[in-house]
Amino acid sequence: MKILNLNPATDIGASSWFVEMEGHRLLMDAGTHPRLEGRDALPRYDLIKKEEVDAIAISHCHHDHVGSLPVALRQFPQAHVLMTELSYFLVERVLHNSVNVMKRQREELGIQEYPLYSHDEVDELAPRIQGFKYNRDVEWASFHKTRAGFISPTLEFYDAGHTLGSAGIMVRGRKETLFYTGDVCFHDQTILRGARFEDVKAEVLLMETTRGQRQLPPGFSREKEIERLSAAILRVLHRRGSVLIPSFALGRTQEILTLLAIMMREGKLKPQPVYIGGLGRVFTEIYDLESHRTHRQYPNLQMHDALNLTVLEKGQVDKMKLTGGRLFVVTAGMMSEHTASHNLALRMIGDKDQAIFFVGYADPETPGGRLKAAKPGETFILSPSAGEVTRRCEVEDFDLTAHANRDDLLDFVGEVDPRVVLLSHGEDGSRDWFAEQIHARYPKIKVLAPKPGEVLEV
Ligand SMILES: [Zn+2]
Ligand SMILES: [Zn+2]
Repeated sequence: MKILNLNPATDIGASSWFVEMEGHRLLMDAGTHPRLEGRDALPRYDLIKKEEVDAIAISHCHHDHVGSLPVALRQFPQAHVLMTELSYFLVERVLHNSVNVMKRQREELGIQEYPLYSHDEVDELAPRIQGFKYNRDVEWASFHKTRAGFISPTLEFYDAGHTLGSAGIMVRGRKETLFYTGDVCFHDQTILRGARFEDVKAEVLLMETTRGQRQLPPGFSREKEIERLSAAILRVLHRRGSVLIPSFALGRTQEILTLLAIMMREGKLKPQPVYIGGLGRVFTEIYDLESHRTHRQYPNLQMHDALNLTVLEKGQVDKMKLTGGRLFVVTAGMMSEHTASHNLALRMIGDKDQAIFFVGYADPETPGGRLKAAKPGETFILSPSAGEVTRRCEVEDFDLTAHANRDDLLDFVGEVDPRVVLLSHGEDGSRDWFAEQIHARYPKIKVLAPKPGEVLEV
């Protein structure tokens, strides 16, 4: 089979893979780069201009995996789009929101190329998307090429435990097999249960490496980390300060809301409004609505009923009183400019009673990353629009990752027992760590780290 890495960057970037297997062509994921702007954020679709893509399979609905789907479909008008049925409930919301964000960025940052696609285009692609249950064989090659008696390649979605609808993708041809992990989480989170990748065997394994540079400290457990976060929240509310937890709208927000709901149910936290963003509310409702067909904890917990969720109005964060202990679970996770978490943080940073708690990754080049790195009393530039600030508020980092710990992934490589491993979705150092470890532990397995635009024959 032929595999081409379309990600324009060597870091986590914009995931997209072109696969040619037994004469059929598949695109896996169609992301956008979270830190690059305009057309630079797109995968290198120009490299496959002449190819006829039969289908586009999406691993999950985070922007770095699905954010450029309408652009890809413009180039491949005959392709159908395949994803899990849970992702199908989310994808249009995610893409319409992207249009809104790009329009805002055109105004605020003057990026003339934005929006890269329109609301109309998102509406038009809806009928081309098909949602499937986990663990079903799906035929994806176009029928005109599948001659009688020929078995066309199939794919199968495996529950990846990373966010609602997330999947690893197994592609099976007559002779070849490829498994793509997407973003995967092997351990249980507060709401979602861990990946169900049992019995995955493939000749080629394409895997994420997000946490290759993160060794868990001795004695670490997720339960203890949750306890530490719960205690920190109570401590701040007790001194009448407010708590800001910058969170991605899809996944992280619902994990934190579940934690707050459980704390209230157990009487640890007194009932009070939890402020969230509009998109966070939409995804929370979908988590609730689909709870019966989700592999999760607390199947009967409906966040909408258990919590007094209050959606922040535009401009409200600039005026609200922050004394008296309020709880904010708002976007963006990395506190990018002109978002609720950025503007709230700006008001909280200089006040020692306020607290900003990070529960996920923040790139060092983002406002969130810069705040994480700042020491108490340190003056630094939060963002171009905010300028210089002095950090006096409480800042803590909690490791509640939705990505597989590196040792779990390494064990998984052994279970899959592939001929070739392709490393993706991580910083250079992360891929290096996996390459070394796989060489040492499984010397027969060939390890490759495909560069942007590199074509591999495997
Ligand atoms: Zn993801
Ligand atoms: Zn990702």
